[in-house]
Amino acid sequence: MVVTPHPDDAEWGVAGTVARWVREGKEIIYVVCTNGDKGTSDANVKPEELARIREQEQLAAAKLLGVREVIFLRHPDQSLEDTPEFRKEIVRLIRMYRPETVVTADPYRRYVWHRDHRITGQVTLDAVFPYARDGLSYPDLLEEGLYPHKVKEVLLWASGDVNYRSDITDTFDLKIAALRCHKSQVGNNPSPELEKRLRERHRMMAEGEDFELAEAFHRVEILR
Ligand SMILES: [Zn+2]
Repeated sequence: MVVTPHPDDAEWGVAGTVARWVREGKEIIYVVCTNGDKGTSDANVKPEELARIREQEQLAAAKLLGVREVIFLRHPDQSLEDTPEFRKEIVRLIRMYRPETVVTADPYRRYVWHRDHRITGQVTLDAVFPYARDGLSYPDLLEEGLYPHKVKEVLLWASGDVNYRSDITDTFDLKIAALRCHKSQVGNNPSPELEKRLRERHRMMAEGEDFELAEAFHRVEILR
């Protein structure tokens, strides 16, 4: 399960790994927290129009990668807060889909970091542990048949503390193609330049590994 703050963050953070997982037969669910309706510098685009466009872009990228399902929570862009309601939304989805691995933004990236990214990462980590795990956390969810679930690992993208590098050498092209689905976001980047810049970035992320290109994460294994 990939919990992404905005449509497109998952593609920047984990699309190459997602494509590899799909090839390995794993099922991927995307949870998109905000509608991304402030993600433009074009003053002529109306927020509701942008939200509609970005949902379509996200669906196209997910389809290309082979993601099984995309869930849109449709919170307004730049509005996320660490609230019991938002946390419970994520707990509910974890208990419904029962993922082995949860991927999201590292909330502990230092200094300038999009608030929606920080909050999404923080709320998702809390949802994984202890709230999704403990039956007594939400008696009403138990009544709905949403029983406790233990996530095995969490991967955090954009981390300042990388301890896990995932091989995306064979799926890098798919990651680029998925990013290009987000035309409202990457439309102004000339194609060859975007690819060149990203190839360089992911080559650096693979430093010390015996493969060429990597996505880098902070990985947390949850033993309890
Ligand atoms: Zn974002």
